[in-house]
Amino acid sequence: MISFDNTRPILVLHLSQTQPSLLVSPNSSSQVWRKMLGSLAKKQQLRLKLAAPRGFCAGVDRAIQIVDLALEKWGPPVYVRHEIVHNRFVVDSLAAKGAIFVDELDEVPAGAPVVFSAHGVPKSVPAEAERRTLLALDATCPLVSKVHVEAERHFEAGLEIILIGHAGHPEVIGTMGQLPDGAVSLVETVADATRFVPRDPARLAYITQTTLSVDDTAEIVGVLKARFPQIAGPHKEDICYATTNRQEAVKAIAPGTDVLLVVGAPNSSNSMRLVEVGRRAGAKAAQLVQRASDIDWALLEGAHIAGLTSGASAPEVLVEEVITALKARFDVEIEDVVVGTENVQFRLPRVLTA
Ligand code: SF4
Repeated sequence: MISFDNTRPILVLHLSQTQPSLLVSPNSSSQVWRKMLGSLAKKQQLRLKLAAPRGFCAGVDRAIQIVDLALEKWGPPVYVRHEIVHNRFVVDSLAAKGAIFVDELDEVPAGAPVVFSAHGVPKSVPAEAERRTLLALDATCPLVSKVHVEAERHFEAGLEIILIGHAGHPEVIGTMGQLPDGAVSLVETVADATRFVPRDPARLAYITQTTLSVDDTAEIVGVLKARFPQIAGPHKEDICYATTNRQEAVKAIAPGTDVLLVVGAPNSSNSMRLVEVGRRAGAKAAQLVQRASDIDWALLEGAHIAGLTSGASAPEVLVEEVITALKARFDVEIEDVVVGTENVQFRLPRVLTA
């Protein structure tokens, strides 16, 4: 990288992460200039495989739009219970427009608009909002709501329900909270599935979190089906289209890749799964980065092929930021690897569109 030192008549050459900067003045010898030109010529080539689909899904897009439209309609502040989606950049951008993020509804003044996050909420939350006469807007992704409906249907049919998911994730808390305590048992791993003891093996059903690893979940479901052949499951996978497509795209770019960068947040389940799926599919190294400033440049020393993707809650502007950072250090050749296109859109709440 080249910069000018305004205080002195010199050019500053930043040769690489590991080499010191080189100062070049008009009086520098021709040897120095040759070294400078040689360094420039040596900018390492990097083939960058860019996965598609990547980034925002329809559920995240809708949730952000709900907060934006609520701010337009009622003006700030609009309260949001928990992170609307798992991305600090998105949360900070909405906070700058007047959204106030809270942990619980008792922080929201009576009558104020409050948005529930895309991950879904336990039934007790909208009930509490109604009791407090809050103006509640539900940004739960319709694909998460679909799982809630499945859970209720199995419960009404008298089945014991297994939820495959990660303990403590807001979506899991929301899904388990659709039914009375004890109605849903959480299974996180193949080992959990192997030792699960049902009340009645003939009256079982399973549902899953929407953002799991497709392959890991298939393994867990395989164990449950082998142990309990009558277990009822979803008509169509609970893992959503966006999670599935992003994992397929990562599998397409990972083989032969020296470093895979996944733009996303550490608390974003689908982003974390992309890192794991990428490693398993052949990426020699994989790193989750929230922003370009997180990139571990040591991983890229000597790299010739890199992969780049982003989780469903990561905005494209952060992917562009990473590409810009890579271009500052490498001679980057971008290769788009597209495994499919998406045109899913979800309807917004009528109160915001009327
Ligand atoms: S990742 Fe899937 S389930 Fe989650 S918000 Fe996006 S579309 Fe909905």
